Amino acid sequence: MLAHGRPGPAVPVAPACPATGGPADTYMREHGDMTTRRPADCWLTDMDGVLIHEGSPVPGAQDFIARLRDSGKRYLVLTNNSMQTPRDLQARLDRMGIAVPEEAIFTSALATAQFLDDQRPGGSAYVIGEAGMTTALYEVGYVLSDHDPDYVVLGETRTYSFEAITKAIRLVSDGARFIATNPDPTGPSNEGALPATGSVAALISKATGVEPYFVGKPNPMMMRSALNTVQAHSESTIMIGDRMDTDVLCGMEAGLETVLVLSGITRKDEIDRFPYRPSRVVDSIADLVADV
Ligand SMILES: [Mg+2]
Repeated sequence: MLAHGRPGPAVPVAPACPATGGPADTYMREHGDMTTRRPADCWLTDMDGVLIHEGSPVPGAQDFIARLRDSGKRYLVLTNNSMQTPRDLQARLDRMGIAVPEEAIFTSALATAQFLDDQRPGGSAYVIGEAGMTTALYEVGYVLSDHDPDYVVLGETRTYSFEAITKAIRLVSDGARFIATNPDPTGPSNEGALPATGSVAALISKATGVEPYFVGKPNPMMMRSALNTVQAHSESTIMIGDRMDTDVLCGMEAGLETVLVLSGITRKDEIDRFPYRPSRVVDSIADLVADV
């Protein structure tokens, strides 16, 4: 929550009880909790299931990003993918015709590196992960070491080795703090589910009795790190995602307006089973182009 009285961007505050009968009025009647929100001047959007799905762009994604870019509003594409650097992801999106600058991509690896830099600047880590994670740690001034490191950092990788996991287990048992980029047990691929960071973390936890601290979604710290990165305020930011249990949960906990798109994981008939609700539900990102 933001402290009241803190200076914010020069955005007009929405009237508490609009009686104009316009679309915003209808929207506010349907969403009573929205009446005190400021108009959105920042958008955060998940990537897989929102902008792209199974290797293809979701129709409307190009238009949505182009509209954001032209509007001059702040935005970030958020992903729990800690395997690739923002530059790699930029290239991947670009190949699908979605033009997002590198600076507008925020991964769980960046959030993890920011967290470690805040907690223990200039520290050391033993990393199981790929370029997305190691580059982010180098950039905050961390030393990668397997000799008495401050942390064992587990990120996403497709090249797990028995030796690396054994090393991680011994270091955690000897006192290294255990951090993981994201709790996802599986990840998507065109051929079916792949074991992801959460599953490997469980293996290390079983062997050591130590649970990791997960930085990525649904930890609302991922949202707060993203907001800090673009210097945005929670009360005027919208989070778009395709999963109730990660995107909507952490958006809600960080105080953001949340939009669930039905182009990814969560199905419409599953929404009511959760003890929390998104602010809005739409079929896909195409339905949000006009809202930017
Ligand atoms: Mg997703």
